[in-house]
Amino acid sequence: MIVIGIDIGGTEIKAGLVSLGAGETPQNADSGERVLHRLAVPTNATGGPSAVIEAVHRVVGELLRLSSDCGNAARIGIGVPGSVDHESGVVLCPPNLPGWERVPLARIVEAKWGMPVSIDNDANCAALAEARFGAGRGHRSFIALTLGTGVGSGIVLDGALYRGERGFGGEFGHMTIDYNGPQCNCGNTGCVEAYIGGAYIPGRARSYLAHHPESTLYGRALEEPGSLTPKILADAAASGDEGARAFLRETGELLGIAVASAVNLLDIHVFVIGGGIAGAGEPLFAGIASSARSHVLSVHRESIRILPARLGNEAGMLGAAALAAS
Ligand SMILES: [Zn+2]
Repeated sequence: MIVIGIDIGGTEIKAGLVSLGAGETPQNADSGERVLHRLAVPTNATGGPSAVIEAVHRVVGELLRLSSDCGNAARIGIGVPGSVDHESGVVLCPPNLPGWERVPLARIVEAKWGMPVSIDNDANCAALAEARFGAGRGHRSFIALTLGTGVGSGIVLDGALYRGERGFGGEFGHMTIDYNGPQCNCGNTGCVEAYIGGAYIPGRARSYLAHHPESTLYGRALEEPGSLTPKILADAAASGDEGARAFLRETGELLGIAVASAVNLLDIHVFVIGGGIAGAGEPLFAGIASSARSHVLSVHRESIRILPARLGNEAGMLGAAALAAS
């Protein structure tokens, strides 16, 4: 089967023509081999729903033109950054897409192109992609965490996405790890996201590194703390900066507290971690694992596995394609 996968991001729409052909099961092929064509265009989010939908139509049109060479696409899957009613195909009100409120995206795209369209939120798409093509293969249940501006997550339970009773499940980033903690943009206090979300990292890094004059980032922490992005921190850690390494380890330990709660609640032991700061690698992953192990019931301690995501920034697009085919 040839399908179109579309990942609508806050700034860019990534789309691909993806082959999920008979005999080529997701379990036995590398994901890169099945992407026949890729496209990326600006989202034009400030133009509201009509501008974004116009961009979606443009990429669908282009990919359908390309697909006529390789067997014609039959279905479309779309990942959206925010809450989605998967059953009805309605986008509710994504925080990074201004002006969207209850937009029946699946019906609009179906009406234009005359083929089935499935939509889901981007974190669920990323989890589905990791389940089919990436680090989740071979694991019946796992939680995929995407660490970006927010902390997205998708729960794969007994081989299928678990969306919750009304489709709003998997809000891992808004699990509270300290009820006296900092304010989160959701209105709650002490959420995981208020510590490790991209918007909160520079502030925490400044507080930490301003007490570490030996760090190469000490000057930045005092003078331009906004520049302490996950990439800068990860690069410094990779160069051996002990302050940056310790900060990233602490970041992992904070996430590990919520991981432990999820393990205790669901008896799920595998966590697939991707997104910007996941690029920091060892200090972050070691922090998550040690903290999770120290906070879970002893029966879970040896089973916990913290795995890096494999699909990078194509996870959303590939997951949308897998969604279309499911
Ligand atoms: Zn929150």
